[in-house]
Amino acid sequence: MDQALQTSLSERYSQQLYRERLTLDSAQGPEVIIDGKSYLAFCSNDYLGLANHPDVIQSFQKAANQYGLGSGASQLIVGHCRSHCLLEEELAEFTGRERALLFSSGYMANLGAMSALLNRGDAVFQDRLNHASLLDAGRLSGARLQRFRHRDLQHLEACLTSSKGHRKLIATDGVFSMDGDRQELTVLSKLASEQNAWLMLDDAHGFGVLGKNGRGSTNEFQLTQNEIPILMATLGKSAGSFGAFVAGSDALIETLIQFSRSYIYTTALPPAVAEATRTSLRILARDDWRRDHLKRLVSLFREECLNRNIPVSESDTAIQPVIIGDIDKTLKISRLLFEQGILVSAIRPPTVPIGSARLRITFSASHTVSQVERLVDVLSRMPWQSINCAA
Ligand SMILES: *Cc1c(COP(=O)(O)O)cnc(C)c1O
Repeated sequence: MDQALQTSLSERYSQQLYRERLTLDSAQGPEVIIDGKSYLAFCSNDYLGLANHPDVIQSFQKAANQYGLGSGASQLIVGHCRSHCLLEEELAEFTGRERALLFSSGYMANLGAMSALLNRGDAVFQDRLNHASLLDAGRLSGARLQRFRHRDLQHLEACLTSSKGHRKLIATDGVFSMDGDRQELTVLSKLASEQNAWLMLDDAHGFGVLGKNGRGSTNEFQLTQNEIPILMATLGKSAGSFGAFVAGSDALIETLIQFSRSYIYTTALPPAVAEATRTSLRILARDDWRRDHLKRLVSLFREECLNRNIPVSESDTAIQPVIIGDIDKTLKISRLLFEQGILVSAIRPPTVPIGSARLRITFSASHTVSQVERLVDVLSRMPWQSINCAA
C-alpha cells in the first residue's frame, strides 16, 4: 500500500502542490508562535477576533464545569442538550428565520442539507467558485451537478431553462472564500423564484461581518426566508467558535432532522462549545466597533496597495487576495514574507482554479492599523516586477 501511496505523493510533490502544516504554540490572534518565533498572521478566518475573547473562554469553562466535555451521543439519541436548543433559537432569531439546526461543522452542514433535499433525477446548480464543501455535497446528493460561470447569472439562467431536473436547487457562496467577492443575491433570488428553483446560500464569510449587527448577507440585502429558503453558515469563522447551522422554515429543519445523514450519524457538539458560541453571538451582535474597525483596516490596506502597485483583486470584504497565477512564484513570495515574520497563506490548485495561485490575505478586527501598515510595507518590498502577476 505505502508504495502505491508514495507514487501519488511524489507526483504531488513534484507539481509543487504538496501541503504542509504549520504547528502553532499559541492561541489564534494577530500574533502567533511557531517554532518559538512570533509571526504576524494574516490568514485566519477569525474576522472579529472572538476566538480568544475572555468572555467566550469563561462561558466555555463554566459550561464545562456544569456539563462536562463530551456530549456522549448523537443529537437524536441523548446528545441534544439545553445549550444546543437555546443556541438554535438564538440563531433563528438572529438570522430572521423560523428555525435553525446545529451541525458539527460547515462541511457537514452542506453535505447533510443537500443530500437530504436532493436525489437522483434532481439537478443542482453551482457557481464554479463555490466552496469545496458545496461542490462535494452536490456530488454526494446524486443529483445532476451543473456548474455555472463565476457570478454569471445569465449562464445560470440558460442552465436552468434547459434543465430537466425534477427538483432544481441553486447553491452559492455569499462571499467567495478565496476571492472575497460576492454573489448578486437579489438578482439571484428573483431568478430562482422565476425558475421555480430552490436557493441555498452558504454565508460562511458573510455571517457576523455583513448586515446590521452582523446578521449576514441576507440581512444586508433584506432577503427573507421566502427569498432565500436555505441559509447555512459556519460558527468557526467570525463567531470564533466551532460548528455550523442551517436556518429556514420549520419544514426544512424537520426534513434535515429526519433525513440528513451528517446530522443523524455523528456525535453532538460538546455543550460547552454551544454555550461559548452563545456568548460569542451576543458579543458579535453588540460590538459594531469590530465590524467598523475591520472595514477601516480593509480600506486602508487597499488604498496603500493601490498606491504602491501591489496587485490586489477587486474585493471589499476581509478576504483580500493577491492573484499571482504561477505556483512557484506564489510559494516564493509566501516564503519571503515568512522570513520577514509575516504569515500569509499561499493558495494553490485544486483549492483555486489552475493558473490562479494566490496569496490569500485576511484581516481581523483584532489587527491594529500599524500591523496592517507593516504588512503593506513588507509586501511593497517583494519582487513583484519579476513576478508579472496574472491580475
Ligand atoms: C469554511 C467554509 C465552510 C466549512 O465550514 P467549517 O465549519 O469550517 O466546516 C463551508 N463553506 C464555506 C464557504 C467556507 O468558507
